[in-house]
Amino acid sequence: MELKRAAEGDKGFQKVFAFLRDRLLAGSLKPGDRLISERELASQLGVSRPLVREALRALTMLGIVEIRDRIGTVVTRPDISVLNDFFTFALAQQADMLDDVMQARVAIECQAIRLACERAGIADFERLQRALAKIEETIDEADAGGMADFEFHRAIVLASRSETLTVLHNSVAGLLTRSHRSRRELVQSFPSMKTYLIDDHRRIFEAVVARDPERADATLRKHFEIGDEYRRRAVVGEKEGRKASR
Ligand SMILES: [Zn+2]
Repeated sequence: MELKRAAEGDKGFQKVFAFLRDRLLAGSLKPGDRLISERELASQLGVSRPLVREALRALTMLGIVEIRDRIGTVVTRPDISVLNDFFTFALAQQADMLDDVMQARVAIECQAIRLACERAGIADFERLQRALAKIEETIDEADAGGMADFEFHRAIVLASRSETLTVLHNSVAGLLTRSHRSRRELVQSFPSMKTYLIDDHRRIFEAVVARDPERADATLRKHFEIGDEYRRRAVVGEKEGRKASR
């Protein structure tokens, strides 16, 4: 009995969801439009009213509709920033996801930098330049340094002027900021790494200013690879010189 009711509930939800999805995709329902009443919806779809109400409540949580007092159910404009929380939550559940997330980040940033070469304006160049200066200033600090690095990469993605790439980047990069900090701690044991870090970010910046997508993409890709290489070396315990252990 319970099982049957649950199955019926699933079906009811699917029906309500499909009803809305079809109309939203077809454009006959737009953000701001009011839905037909629960009663009408129930009879049209052949499901009970409580089921319709439940399904609408679930759609409210997804940010697809909004239930307004005395007005009824209104279609809202979906906010893609919910993806951010979704990714962070979903990915945080899997311990070995970090490398995989890193791959996604490479894909997002390399496409973003190509677009940035075409689309970046003065404000974007200025943001990149500020981030670059911050990287230099904070090179001896693990926390602030990691943050400056993140800001630089975020500035690249913002310069792509792609809202979707920005949201995707925020969601995966947010997850990576945890590992950034520990990576920057490792960097402190590699004096040559500091010079490299500053120079490499400058090379990326220059490629964007030159509006050269091939060079920008290649430089950024290498930046990620070398970052990985240093991390590997640090993990196996290699260190430079004697002043290293700090
Ligand atoms: Zn970087």
